[in-house]
Amino acid sequence: MLLDSYKLETEYFECQCMSVNHTVRFVYDPKHLELYMDVFLERNYPWWKRIVIALRYIFNYNDSRDIWADVIFKPEDADRMINLFSKLKPNN
Ligand SMILES: [Zn+2]
Repeated sequence: MLLDSYKLETEYFECQCMSVNHTVRFVYDPKHLELYMDVFLERNYPWWKRIVIALRYIFNYNDSRDIWADVIFKPEDADRMINLFSKLKPNN
């Protein structure tokens, strides 16, 4: 069994825009001192825009505006985030 000897710690952070699609999940692995981040940044483009993006991809034209989106972290989550990232420091 994969995780039978220790427990992963999970923290969720919501975007200030309150879109569930901008929720960030961090999973801390205390055994391996690793922190994973998962985020789903959905883009709801119209059909013609998706075709343009596909054509750009086919012809290897790289435009990061098509694949990047933002997550705006809330100030009240700062302490939780600092605590989470401090777990990665050696001798913590
Ligand atoms: Zn957002």
